Amino acid sequence: MTKKPVITVIGSINMDLVTIASRFPSQGETILGEAFHLVPGGKGANQAVAAARLGAEVHIIGAVGTDAFGTELLRSLEREGVHIDNVKQVTHRGTGIASITISEQDNRIIVVPGANHALRPDDVEQCEKIIASSNVCVLQLEIPLSVVERAVFLAKKHGVRVILNPAPAHPLPQKLIEQVDFLTPNEHEREILFQQVDANAFADKVIVTEGARGVTIRKGGKQMLIPSFRVPVVDTTGAGDTFNGALAVALSKGMSLEDACRFANAAAALSVTKLGAQGGMPTEGEVERFLK
Ligand code: ADP
Repeated sequence: MTKKPVITVIGSINMDLVTIASRFPSQGETILGEAFHLVPGGKGANQAVAAARLGAEVHIIGAVGTDAFGTELLRSLEREGVHIDNVKQVTHRGTGIASITISEQDNRIIVVPGANHALRPDDVEQCEKIIASSNVCVLQLEIPLSVVERAVFLAKKHGVRVILNPAPAHPLPQKLIEQVDFLTPNEHEREILFQQVDANAFADKVIVTEGARGVTIRKGGKQMLIPSFRVPVVDTTGAGDTFNGALAVALSKGMSLEDACRFANAAAALSVTKLGAQGGMPTEGEVERFLK
């Protein structure tokens, strides 16, 4: 049996509170909604689950509260086979949440980072061994930037490849961009990301996700589209997270960037055919059968 790829995700763990309503209430108004769901989320947790479903050994470094949401999220990560020994439970902040309202016209989201913002550079410092033993580290921007910077520093100290998904959109310092191996913004995030930095200088490490079109990379000085797959769309939530988790698995297995993007496109396309961010994430076997 070949050894499983080892992936460490340093990132957010949230409970998504999803309300479905026919419309949004106007100022001062109370209306009745149609349904309410509690769904595990957070970009870090989502990307960790995506990689675990695809057969990797996944460690997550993060923080939740000691409240019921925190305990439930830890259980749900465990059920997915994600190692949670390095998630700290803090008493002074509640578990991160995203309050999501979905109406026929639009979606509205408020994120309260809570415990995700209680993660400290020292917490990742304590996980240096796990980071060093990983094939790939995966990060996003829903935790403090100082934590992202320390994690990237530690990964590079040990020659571990780093994928940084720069979401939510935020300008990043040049030094951080220099250190990471791959950045995976969507088109909007790419605009913001390079506000203080010359985008051209780093074009070789940027993988731009373009929804149903697929992704664009630069190869041999030229832009190249790695097209996505046409699928019946049910719910695109978590498509980007599935793409990032799958990209990490594919690169860990030694695939070229082009092949890894094709694999990740396939995983993300499968994920949009089902409801929910984590709910739709495919297994390794499902992606292999889809690509045959
Ligand atoms: P985000 O959700 O972060 O904005 P994108 O919308 O660019 O990211 O989607 C990420 C990836 O998911 C795309 O590059 C593509 O591989 C896949 N994807 C997204 N939407 C679709 C779709 N409608 N059909 C097939 N694949 C999709």
